[in-house]
Amino acid sequence: MHKPPIFGEIRFSCPHCGALAHQYWALTRHREVAKNWTPKELHNPLAHMYVTGISAAEALKKVIGKKVTLHDDEDRGNTQLIRNLHSSRCDSCGNISIWLQEKLVYPAAAPTGMANLDMPAQVRTLYDEAGAVFRTSPRAAAALLRLALQHLLIALGEKGDNICEDINKLVDKGLDADIALTMDTIRIVGNESAHPGIINVNEEPEIAAVMFELLNEIVKDMISKPMQKEAIRKILPKKKRVEIERKLAKRDRGDSK
Ligand SMILES: [Zn+2]
Repeated sequence: MHKPPIFGEIRFSCPHCGALAHQYWALTRHREVAKNWTPKELHNPLAHMYVTGISAAEALKKVIGKKVTLHDDEDRGNTQLIRNLHSSRCDSCGNISIWLQEKLVYPAAAPTGMANLDMPAQVRTLYDEAGAVFRTSPRAAAALLRLALQHLLIALGEKGDNICEDINKLVDKGLDADIALTMDTIRIVGNESAHPGIINVNEEPEIAAVMFELLNEIVKDMISKPMQKEAIRKILPKKKRVEIERKLAKRDRGDSK
């Protein structure tokens, strides 16, 4: 079950790992440091691990190699509470999400939530990249999602250099007409966003927002559903499975006549 991340909720689908998990909330305090101190680059592996989400205790354990316990700093002098900056830590993966003014600002989320968990890695990278730029440039997001579709077509066994041709080939192999149309919609909007055309994605960002949903739908139909069906078939006793496979083969032959 997917439960979108909501400010203040103690359980939602983590924007990092996707697991529906308990979230530990934290306040943020501001402490000024020495006058001539400025943030350094993250060359320290401990600092790097910390910001990439591993909890401080775990990061220390990795660096030092033994169990450590962190103590809360009792001295609260010289610190002020930042009222509108919070963080939530996922109980499942340990990664931290940052919330500003009750809005999730890290990790950058797509306008319609996270990618389908079965989305191939390369496609998901582009999906997330599109999500990160969506607010500043819906047009760039639309172009990235078109590119994501191209990579998805490669993952589905097509060449990926000509979306139109790839869709036609999939239709020949029995692709559902509705999915073909969805793919074509992403292709056209993505094209229009890259060239001066009829559709102005920056003026109508909701067009790009819908593209995220469409890409997820394609992954659900083309990857998730077949995987689920396969998993269910596998738990059937062998005799029953053979029976069903025979029935399906018969039906397929009937369809092709
Ligand atoms: Zn998580």
